[in-house]
Amino acid sequence: MRVCISCKKTYDRKNLLKITNDHKQGIIFQTGMGRSAYICNSKKCYSDSKIKKKLKKALKISLEPEFIEIFEKEIKSYSDYSN
Ligand SMILES: [Zn+2]
Repeated sequence: MRVCISCKKTYDRKNLLKITNDHKQGIIFQTGMGRSAYICNSKKCYSDSKIKKKLKKALKISLEPEFIEIFEKEIKSYSDYSN
């Protein structure tokens, strides 16, 4: 069970989008080794306007434009998938 960084509820791993600050590859989604954060598949959470700030805090990363671009693409495909 993992905690969603937005609603703080616990979910099974398979119901969460995993974002990892991988030691070698940087920020990657669903795989990777390193500090990770999870977002549940509730629209309220993944489309939260504060979600990027929460991620930044959880992963201890800076919000580079490249990261935001990738993140928004991932969220879009994630939301398409859960619908
Ligand atoms: Zn959530």
